[in-house]
Amino acid sequence: MIEIQNLQKKFKNNIVLKDITEHVDKGQVICVIGPSGAGKSTFLRCLNCLEQPTSGKVFFEGNDLTKINDKQLNQLREKMGMVFQGFNLFPNMNVIENIKLAPMKVKNIPEKQAEETGMKLLEKVGLAEKAKQYPDQLSGGQKQRVAIARALAMDPEVMLFDEPTSALDPEMVDEVLTVMHDLADSGMTMVVVTHEMGFAHEVADQIWFMADGYIQETGKPDEFFAHPTSDRAKEFLKKIL
Ligand code: ADP
Ligand code: MG
Repeated sequence: MIEIQNLQKKFKNNIVLKDITEHVDKGQVICVIGPSGAGKSTFLRCLNCLEQPTSGKVFFEGNDLTKINDKQLNQLREKMGMVFQGFNLFPNMNVIENIKLAPMKVKNIPEKQAEETGMKLLEKVGLAEKAKQYPDQLSGGQKQRVAIARALAMDPEVMLFDEPTSALDPEMVDEVLTVMHDLADSGMTMVVVTHEMGFAHEVADQIWFMADGYIQETGKPDEFFAHPTSDRAKEFLKKIL
């Protein structure tokens, strides 16, 4: 579904991503972990070309995102849902309006249908009763669940998450992880940058460990957490576990 070839990303003289070649299969859940500043967010943003790679290629369903025009890129991006650390909901719209906006505007879905789909998604994330509330009336965990429902409303092929729980109070982390766990069980292809090692261990098909601008090692969670092979990963796990 996603193929990354010799991806490099520089900001001025700072080479943040040095040379990354990996792929994501349909239905796979990848958890990207690694120290702060490793380039994880930059990497995730290169997957949908929110950051333009300096060199290398990123293919999504066979299309080279680094080669196509903006219109084509925007069409493909619709199939890539993204959820960030911050909630990025529109504060002047209530929950269901937030969710149905993009399907109506971008995909020309009739309002009634967008509303129905939106309500189903709100049920899925356990927030149907909050449809008419405004973002500032919700807790952080609820906002993040709405952000997930909003991304799902575009019916994406893949969901990209960048530390979706790291801005949350601890007691709200689980409600968001549970929604993500259910999504993974439903077969969604997911790339998740996270510091939640329990989640990564339990839900990921593959761990990609990133440090110093490289994916230093990849592996199944059981193997990676029990027997990391790279020195950088050993060092990282020793610090956090
Ligand atoms: P991580 O998500 O693993 O903490 P980031 O991808 O956010 O790492 O950052 C990696 C490096 O890239 C950092 O040195 C950061 O300062 C730099 N960086 C990220 N985004 C930009 C940007 N827009 N402009 C300049 N430097 C950036
Ligand atoms: Mg980051």
